[in-house]
Amino acid sequence: MVDAQHPPEVDRAAASRKAVAARRARASLKRDIATRVIWPQAVLRRAKSDPAGPAATMRVTEFLTALPAIGEGKRDRVLAQLEISPVKRLGGLGVRQQKALGAWLDGRFPEPQARAGRSRLVVLAGPTAVGKGTVAAEIKAHHPAMLLSVSATTRPARPGEVEGEHYFFVDDAEFDRLVAAGELLEHATVHNKYRYGTPRGPIERALADGRTVLLEIDLQGARQVRSADPSAALVFLLPPSWDELVHRLVGRGTEGEEERARRLRTARTELAAQHEFDHFVVNDDVARAAAEVAALAR
Ligand code: 5GP
Repeated sequence: MVDAQHPPEVDRAAASRKAVAARRARASLKRDIATRVIWPQAVLRRAKSDPAGPAATMRVTEFLTALPAIGEGKRDRVLAQLEISPVKRLGGLGVRQQKALGAWLDGRFPEPQARAGRSRLVVLAGPTAVGKGTVAAEIKAHHPAMLLSVSATTRPARPGEVEGEHYFFVDDAEFDRLVAAGELLEHATVHNKYRYGTPRGPIERALADGRTVLLEIDLQGARQVRSADPSAALVFLLPPSWDELVHRLVGRGTEGEEERARRLRTARTELAAQHEFDHFVVNDDVARAAAEVAALAR
């Protein structure tokens, strides 16, 4: 006899496995919200479009405290102000509540607006280990109309890296000379360690020839390019999730424990700066992400 109150053992095991998976998915989504891998308004949209998914089944209380700089006191005041019961889940909000919450989020976390138009100078930045280098290499191989700028760096070459192809490897004195002579469009010390800079000459020549140029640089460099050339398109490469970013960071295994921790901290800071960017590309598939970046070039 089937008894709803006492389901058979196998069903219970399956149900509990499902519940564990759902909890994990929600925990992962909360990390994405906290680290800004996903914008809060996008979570609301997901809750609507996927009523059984982790966004829809997340409690509104969990959602709010996952947001940057929202503590429990603030959360409770916001819920009272928006007339939303704390036991509600995002998928269970009424239309009026959805609108009220959306409007509050728009005020507090304005969504970055993609800039219209295309640009001749495209800057690809994003958090550490998101795969900027891989996407840039894919563009170089399959979208040859774009020139991939080769940076100068004081970092020693890794095995397999070729002078003039991956980087121009220079010592500190030579880097100082390049800076003093104004030969770099931008330059920065990355991860508090080595210096990197974009040679100005090849870019100016390529632009003069009517080509488009791609810079794969860090956030500090992206900001300098923005002020040097406000028409540059700043593209932010996002990981599919925060957990995936951590996995890629640790999985690479080329850095020690201390270096990994430092890069993780840098990645959090870099994700928090994405509102400065014009375009967002999720690196879930390298070929697709590369095509999306290439399409932004004029
Ligand atoms: P890696 O040493 O792993 O090749 O690169 C480390 C970081 O330096 C990456 O985040 C990369 O984007 C950044 N980077 C590479 N070239 C430049 C550059 O010319 N300027 C700036 N600002 N960052 C760069």
